[in-house]
Amino acid sequence: MNAPATNLVTDPVVIVGGGFTGLSAAYELAAAGNKVVVLEKEPMVGGLASGFTVGEFTLEKFYHHWFTNDVHVMDLIKEIGRSDEVVFRPTRTGMYYANTIFRLSTPLDLLKFKALSFPNRIRLGLLALKARRIKDWKSIEHMTAREWLIKLAGPEVFRVVWEPLLVGKFGPYADKVGAVWFWKKLALRGGSRASDGREVLAYYKGGFSELAEALKRKLEGMGVEVRVNAPVSGLEVENGRATAVRTRDGAVPARAVLLTHALPLIADLLEGHAAPDYVAGLRRIEYLANICLVLELDRSLSETYWLNVNDPTFPFVGVIEHTNFEPPESYGGRHIVFLSKYLPESDSLYRMADEEVLDFAVPHLQRMFPDFKREWVTGHHVWRARFSQPIAEPHHSKLIPAEETPLDNVLITSMAQIYPEDRGTSYAIREGRRVARELVPRLATEPSAEAGPVGS
Ligand SMILES: Cc1cc2nc3c(=O)[nH]c(=O)nc-3n(C[C@H](O)[C@H](O)[C@H](O)COP(=O)(O)OP(=O)(O)OC[C@H]3O[C@@H](n4cnc5c(N)ncnc54)[C@H](O)[C@@H]3O)c2cc1C
Repeated sequence: MNAPATNLVTDPVVIVGGGFTGLSAAYELAAAGNKVVVLEKEPMVGGLASGFTVGEFTLEKFYHHWFTNDVHVMDLIKEIGRSDEVVFRPTRTGMYYANTIFRLSTPLDLLKFKALSFPNRIRLGLLALKARRIKDWKSIEHMTAREWLIKLAGPEVFRVVWEPLLVGKFGPYADKVGAVWFWKKLALRGGSRASDGREVLAYYKGGFSELAEALKRKLEGMGVEVRVNAPVSGLEVENGRATAVRTRDGAVPARAVLLTHALPLIADLLEGHAAPDYVAGLRRIEYLANICLVLELDRSLSETYWLNVNDPTFPFVGVIEHTNFEPPESYGGRHIVFLSKYLPESDSLYRMADEEVLDFAVPHLQRMFPDFKREWVTGHHVWRARFSQPIAEPHHSKLIPAEETPLDNVLITSMAQIYPEDRGTSYAIREGRRVARELVPRLATEPSAEAGPVGS
């Protein structure tokens, strides 16, 4: 930080975005004695992991769970004294292929997986082990996931198991996804299993939004101001430093600014304050949107929690029966099912009215679950998020912007910078805290309040 004096040390550090990255960064900065303001556009904190009410209960807009190796979130929960709120449960995973639901929870299920020839079942099983043996992701960064998976497990395993999932999840970007993204998913997912091979997942009592609210309360207790309904519309910049952040209620003076929302939105904020090439670079990583249809049912659809859909004619990539993980009693006896689809925002499904989304989904669900009737649906909700999944292409590491920006006191910590892991709340917490910890000593070396405006 070496610019002329424009900021006061009495000004707060302003964090844009009240998702898990922003809240965690605020926690770290406040714990080190800094004045902090969090500005969140939505009426509630939690970002992509925020919730809505179903009756008197809270549920995520988009299904959420943790793996047992999501240590950063567990550490934070422990620090704020809430470990008792976390529950761990084994879950059932399945795959819908050729009009059949296959159970795929344990290694034994895999051996019985008739959609593949026996040698290919073994190849599929060995894939996770082979993935875990790769220690240096840079050695596969030049490859696409398709090339890498075919090389490791052969064309039949790719065609039956991975290609439909890649296409279902990434649509037109399926062939662009880098091997590193897939490798890390496989390696991490394999690490969240019980001794009998079943997947064990974790959840927060009352949902992820309850954790976000608990963090907000904790921050407020530490003196942090968390403003919701506060969309940031611009930065005020003098001499290469941000002096304030603009909101519709006026400008908030800022000693430093931490931007945690999606890179294309950050590009909009920095437009005119940084070189055009730099701003264009922030727009280089592409993102998929997501649409989730959340169904309240009067009965259960199946015994599976997580059903991967390997059928390109089914328009959703996952059928997640949340209440096969967190019991229906947590939602007044309702059975909750999420139908999820990642897609470009131009996709017709993303643009359908909520009622149309339900009409569109029902016949497909009936094909998958022949007993299912529309009368089982007692309520439905549709949620959309434009910036849901950054696409990690080959050589993604070269596209990730640095935390530093051309503005001296403005830093970025955003979902698309998480790598080689995929985005997730635990990594959001890791990165939010890390970047805040890096900022703390820089703030401390500035002149004291008595000296007036800063500049070092
Ligand atoms: C369908 C889906 C399922 C997922 N499942 C899981 C899961 O099971 N487990 C898991 O750990 N993670 C999961 N994730 C990922 C997880 O939700 C994200 O990684 C995490 O929430 C990202 O947090 P963040 O703070 O980095 O970003 P965000 O949550 O995107 O937060 C950014 C915040 O910035 C705010 N904002 C944007 N523009 C402005 C502005 N101009 N002014 C002020 N505020 C602004 C936004 O409203 C938002 O609250 C899932 C994500 C999706 C989409």
